[in-house]
Amino acid sequence: MPRTPDLVGTHVGRPESPEAELLVQEAIGRALSLLLTKKGLYQKVELDLEYLHNHLNAQKLNSFEALTAEFSKRPWVPVSLDVAKENRQRAEFFCGVGDSPLGTPSDGLKLAFGLPPLKLYCDHCKDEHSFSSVTAMWWDGLTDAYPKIGLKTQQLFCLTYQCVNCKQCHTTALINREGLRLTLAGRSKRLPIDAPKVIPKELQPIIRDAKSAASENDIPAAFYHARTFLEHYMKICLKLPLSLRITGDDLGARYNASLDNRMTSGMPSLPALYASSSENMHSRTGSEDDFAKLLEAIEGHLNAKELFLRYRTET
Ligand SMILES: [Zn+2]
Repeated sequence: MPRTPDLVGTHVGRPESPEAELLVQEAIGRALSLLLTKKGLYQKVELDLEYLHNHLNAQKLNSFEALTAEFSKRPWVPVSLDVAKENRQRAEFFCGVGDSPLGTPSDGLKLAFGLPPLKLYCDHCKDEHSFSSVTAMWWDGLTDAYPKIGLKTQQLFCLTYQCVNCKQCHTTALINREGLRLTLAGRSKRLPIDAPKVIPKELQPIIRDAKSAASENDIPAAFYHARTFLEHYMKICLKLPLSLRITGDDLGARYNASLDNRMTSGMPSLPALYASSSENMHSRTGSEDDFAKLLEAIEGHLNAKELFLRYRTET
């Protein structure tokens, strides 16, 4: 994550600085990277200040809470690191960014931070590539009302990234900041969602819908799509029409009976996964972690099945 001492600007004369500022720069970079590469719309990420906490403890400085409150209030200034200096200055001019006036209290000092490079899917290169920030916009006091400086300062950042490989593909995100929390308020392109290769091609859209719902924190919908996938998959394996009305128990029993019997013990069981997905869907239970484990178990079952099939044809 970018750690850019030249962006810290005015140093606060205290033993915690500038290391505290540098650690918060890194924490903002990590939070943004997580938000922009893994999360769907309206998801939130809270800054993880564990490194700052550990650093202060090691220095026997008892100021973690005071500093946490200070960084929650200080205005943050996103900076594109890979653009020419004149471009950066022009962006700063339009955003109204300048050095904090002399005598500004420490909780009013702007904290500039470098925007991290991101691994994103490029529509032009048709592959995942590194993207770097080419424009970062925010608005500094254009009106009295916004940005709102307070215990949990509110700001809006508009960030544009460009594919480093082709320089043809751009993606823009809108990030709402409130204190130490960042929310993905908009993005010009949907987060690309992939499905494991072992999932049959015709069923991959269902798994992508499930993962997409999970990325937007709609976990009951994620379980719903996953259950649909399991139903379709078992019916296709059994050559049953998708429209056939059959109970989950009956379908699961028929599916298990069709398997190599070594697969029905010790392997993730699709009928059991179907039952737990139904339970989670109906009772609106199950966490994002439970959903990730469900996907892992589905993938594990399909991988094992592929291996068993290969072994059988080779002997
Ligand atoms: Zn590209």
